[in-house]
Amino acid sequence: MTTTDRSNTALRRYASDLLWLHVLCGKPACRRARACMRNPRSCARRYSPMIPEPARVGMVAFLTGLQQGAAENEIRAAAPLETDALDQWTACAAAALAAKARP
Ligand SMILES: [Zn+2]
Repeated sequence: MTTTDRSNTALRRYASDLLWLHVLCGKPACRRARACMRNPRSCARRYSPMIPEPARVGMVAFLTGLQQGAAENEIRAAAPLETDALDQWTACAAAALAAKARP
């Protein structure tokens, strides 16, 4: 695996984490770890289409901003609607996860 491959895998894993794909993912390893494990591209390919488009755009805004060295508050100021959409999605994912945990 090259440095670029590792970098791309890390970026995809971070994107999966931002989108909380582990809530949708059926792989036991991902669900246990609460993060997409092993090959994050596989999880992203299957589950990211289920996430609302504005939230996916918010994830891209975060990744792009962070790669350019921007702080979180700067990214939020530059893309308020997109980052709000991502926040709304992650709040829904967190609520779904909490509901699953209840007996
Ligand atoms: Zn997964």
